[in-house]
Amino acid sequence: MQKTDILSMTLPELTEFVETLDEPKFRAKQIQGWLIKGADFDGMKNLPRTLIEKLDAAAFVATAKIEKKQVSSDGTVKYLYRLYDGETVESVLMKYKHGNTVCISSEVGCPMGCAFCASTIGGMTRKLLPSEMLSQVISTERDSGERVSNIVMMGIGEPLDNYANVIKFLRLVGSADGLNKGYRHISLSTCGIVDKIYALADEGFPITLSISLHAADDETRTSLMPVNKRWNIEQLLTACGDYFKKTGRRISFEYTLVSGKNDSASDAEKLASVLKKYCRDMPLHVNLIPVNNVTERGFIPTDRASVDAFAKTLEENKITATVRRRLGSDIDASCGQLRAKTNKNS
Ligand code: SAH
Repeated sequence: MQKTDILSMTLPELTEFVETLDEPKFRAKQIQGWLIKGADFDGMKNLPRTLIEKLDAAAFVATAKIEKKQVSSDGTVKYLYRLYDGETVESVLMKYKHGNTVCISSEVGCPMGCAFCASTIGGMTRKLLPSEMLSQVISTERDSGERVSNIVMMGIGEPLDNYANVIKFLRLVGSADGLNKGYRHISLSTCGIVDKIYALADEGFPITLSISLHAADDETRTSLMPVNKRWNIEQLLTACGDYFKKTGRRISFEYTLVSGKNDSASDAEKLASVLKKYCRDMPLHVNLIPVNNVTERGFIPTDRASVDAFAKTLEENKITATVRRRLGSDIDASCGQLRAKTNKNS
């Protein structure tokens, strides 16, 4: 018999499940209380032994267990989490003045093949369960003793490639009887799976969408991101316009700057012009990120002066631009780097 993934259940689902075990409904709430504290069955101290045994026989808790932890001099903490089947993913805890942010993974590896990204080097092994995304938040809060107010789905994997599980995770993480996180403090980053952007707009979660754009013309974008062959820039930005119209939520565009590839003055002009063309009614914001060195990839980050010039061109076009602070660069905190290293060494 396949065991039930109990941490992926909503309270009504857990209540039904408890009833199938011939236990009173009120146990569901108690079990859920323990689960969101990060307990496994043995840690559920006020439950009768007989119930624990039934739970153990019928269900499992998909806990993300700390395998490795690196603390940066700037306070950023990177976790390598081991999953129930031995696979690993990463989460990063970043401390800002306005609160703590955790960056979580959505898949083991990534199928998308972006040229600059460490997460995709070995392809994708499997998609994460809703519980495994939730558990990254729970385990990070528990280990750090800090409340996490912001969640960004920008770790390993492509969240919209794991659509159903990500939607279930969003339902669980924002649920009043679950972790009760505010949707306005949750961001989801995608490389541009266009049909799922339309679907997400209809789900009604007031989350922030981030689009990994990284280029302003199709030739350059396709050379960096294979997904652009399936959905080009026009299709992607049209979907973004629809998302904003339906949700009223501003979209942020991520633009990784690679020296000599997408960082010239004319690239900045092109970027301003496509954004204004397809996302006319939206307040426009671009995050500029000098590419992180990933040893296997060999891309060179744009120098500071050229980054500033790029930002200035966007600002002149009334597009706000921020240059991302590089938290945790001394601990390989960009996606997939710790997992990639650990896999290589083991
Ligand atoms: N698959 C999703 C989320 C994971 S990647 C997405 O593509 O958006 C999170 C962000 O980090 C993306 O914007 C991604 O393009 C960027 N990224 C990946 N590798 C990078 C690197 N070496 N340097 C800078 N940014 C990188």
